[in-house]
Amino acid sequence: MLRCPNACTTSRTAAGATMPTAIADSDVLLVVDVQNDFCPGGKLAVPHGDEVVAPINRLAGRFQHVVLTQDWHPPGHRSFASSHPGKRPFETVAVDYGQQILWPDHCVQGTVGAQFHDGLQIPHAELVLRKGFRPTIDSYSALYENDRKTPTGLAGYLRERGLTRIFIAGLAFDFCVRYSAEDARREDFAVTVIADACRAIDVGGSLAATRASFARLDIATLAADAIV
Ligand SMILES: [Zn+2]
Repeated sequence: MLRCPNACTTSRTAAGATMPTAIADSDVLLVVDVQNDFCPGGKLAVPHGDEVVAPINRLAGRFQHVVLTQDWHPPGHRSFASSHPGKRPFETVAVDYGQQILWPDHCVQGTVGAQFHDGLQIPHAELVLRKGFRPTIDSYSALYENDRKTPTGLAGYLRERGLTRIFIAGLAFDFCVRYSAEDARREDFAVTVIADACRAIDVGGSLAATRASFARLDIATLAADAIV
């Protein structure tokens, strides 16, 4: 059920070859949630999630500007199934901002599971943005929490720094990467998802929905080796 979402939809020549994309000073690599709990052995493991580490390390070396996000929940967070008596992980509940999928407890503040994967080597990352720390609201996106209204501050940070084009990689393709890409697009940033440096959870058709959304919103996807 789970596979690498590596279908590239843009930057192809008529012959089908991928056009190389050069990185500019105004570009930023956004590395989403490459944390132990989202990797094999973690509390909310994305299948093959650890496979993004090596390509992201290579990619990061090509970018002057890198931002990391870190899912960072207090114990008893509302997105945890354990906070809803009788509910199990991956069921859905209605909350004031819409439908919320319930997850296993994961990325609890200060735990090993919330730490970045040991193999992630991006010492020049300029910002670690934590999200999901408000007890009653989840935050898939790096830009807005799940009500799609509460900002994380990242859009303002990027604007103040003159960073206008966002490349996104990480976990999971069909949740935090997807929401980050959609919100960045909504905020008028140029957005490219580096699909083979992501892995998906794929629950309830989320992978297909993500691909359809990217096509609808004209969010480009690209292979990591196309970035030079
Ligand atoms: Zn979370």
